Amino acid sequence: MILLSDPRVIDTPVADCGEPLVDISTAPDLILDPRERDEHGAYGRVRAGVLERLRSASEKLPAGIGLLVIEGHRSQAEQARRFALYEDRLRRSGISDPAELRRRASAFVSPVEVAPHCAGAAVDLALIDTDGVELDMGGTGNGHRTGDERWCPFDAPGLSSTARDHRDLLADCLREQGFVNCPSEWWHWSYGDRYWALLTGAPAAVYGPV
Ligand SMILES: [Zn+2]
Repeated sequence: MILLSDPRVIDTPVADCGEPLVDISTAPDLILDPRERDEHGAYGRVRAGVLERLRSASEKLPAGIGLLVIEGHRSQAEQARRFALYEDRLRRSGISDPAELRRRASAFVSPVEVAPHCAGAAVDLALIDTDGVELDMGGTGNGHRTGDERWCPFDAPGLSSTARDHRDLLADCLREQGFVNCPSEWWHWSYGDRYWALLTGAPAAVYGPV
């Protein structure tokens, strides 16, 4: 499992293509969830190319199932705040070695320098039906915040077959559009950031921090 703290991620070059951040709400086929809303509305934006790919992915889903977008862009200040908060939680659980703290924290919260959300390249997603009810994905997104880490990995052992099928459905439509998943978080997908470049063998990331 390659984590975002892997030194190869920070060593990956960025050749930002300069695409703007655009509002996800302009895409009527995507549903934007307000739970991560921030005062500047960053959560509801992604790079233009990412939005196009999300729209194409949602078209591949069976009738009656849609993509629920929980969070897109995130400011670097907010990313740093979340990383520090999670490190604190780990510290209170008895981990004191700084390198181990950073490694463990970055399984769930990206270090600022390489954060796919800060590049407008990442989205946290779930599937939703036409009544607005989230499908059973096997544990909630961002489960690490509530200490429910067991179900966070995409391939978490012991998932029900329903949850497994729903995760596979999500993965199939996104992979077809070139997205990659961070395997420690089933809900987190990105395109064009450093982590994506490392995993796909692209010579450089096309989206850097914005
Ligand atoms: Zn994410």
